[in-house]
Amino acid sequence: MKDFSLLAQLNDAHGPSGREDEVRKIVCDTLSSVADEITFDGLGSVIARLNRNAHGPKVAVVAHMDEVGFLIREIRPDGLLKVFKLGGIDPVVAANSELEIKTRFGQKYTGLMWSNQPLSGLTIDDLWLDVGANSQEEVAEMGIEIGDSAVFATRHFDLNNSGNLVAKAMDDRIGCWLGLELMKSMAGQPLPCDLYFVATVQEEVGTKGGKTAIEQLRPDIVLVLDVATAKHATSGSGTQRLYGHGPCLVVADKIALGHYPLLNLVSDVAKEHGIQVQRDFLAGGGTDNGPATLVGGGIAGLAIILPVRNCHSPYTQVNQNDAFGCLTLLQQVVTQLDEMQKAHLYPYY
Ligand SMILES: [Zn+2]
Repeated sequence: MKDFSLLAQLNDAHGPSGREDEVRKIVCDTLSSVADEITFDGLGSVIARLNRNAHGPKVAVVAHMDEVGFLIREIRPDGLLKVFKLGGIDPVVAANSELEIKTRFGQKYTGLMWSNQPLSGLTIDDLWLDVGANSQEEVAEMGIEIGDSAVFATRHFDLNNSGNLVAKAMDDRIGCWLGLELMKSMAGQPLPCDLYFVATVQEEVGTKGGKTAIEQLRPDIVLVLDVATAKHATSGSGTQRLYGHGPCLVVADKIALGHYPLLNLVSDVAKEHGIQVQRDFLAGGGTDNGPATLVGGGIAGLAIILPVRNCHSPYTQVNQNDAFGCLTLLQQVVTQLDEMQKAHLYPYY
């Protein structure tokens, strides 16, 4: 049985877009005894270098720290709150959920989201956030201000000890966990590359940190870890991105194409080590790989996605075997990324 206490800690941290402080602290604390250098971009993304004396191609493993959530947009005279959405949250999913509100000074409150409108056609403006206050003054006395943040209140758990892990922020704390576990497992090992873990901010509001952090670091190779909603073999929607069938290598998404030689290299490593992977297309969205790929003169990048259930909800679920498969794959890939492989990735230079 694997110890998932670090993942639970990451998942339970309060960190919607632009308010990633709690996650950043866990990432930095975990890396303090592992990474040689930790720097930041201007928006707060973490750029951690494993070994400052390393040679070889600069490899950045990237995951975003932020989760979907809300900002308090308005405080009504009757003490009810209106919210602004951070990321793609379906108002129907948000209705009747319990939220955790965090104030500027770190106080946390429970908020209940409800609506008196029918669920069909529900919009974010139909939702009320209730903190138990009866007036604007009572909300002010609690220290809650316009601009404070809220996230789903669910705590990390293992679904009936099945190895199916559930949390509000699995998107993308599972990616952060993979990045941290990779760094921990590679510390002190001879590597043919210069390895970085980049934990980005503001992915859910337009893949912002994926641009600013990669712009600052300018790596040679980018591997972006993220999640996407799994399909079902029986749903008729295809056989790609099946839950529990291994990590998915993204051939193309709405913004970026997976770098073809890199896609093939990672596929070959998976095959060589008997790691089950799937090839995938993200029709509806993108990841940090979009902006990362277009930094400078262009960077070889690939998104590796874990299939999840109930994405952007209080209960996003991932299968631990998919996570372990992804970790093994990353460990094998970074031990093979040397100058020769880099030359294969950029055959036109
Ligand atoms: Zn994500």
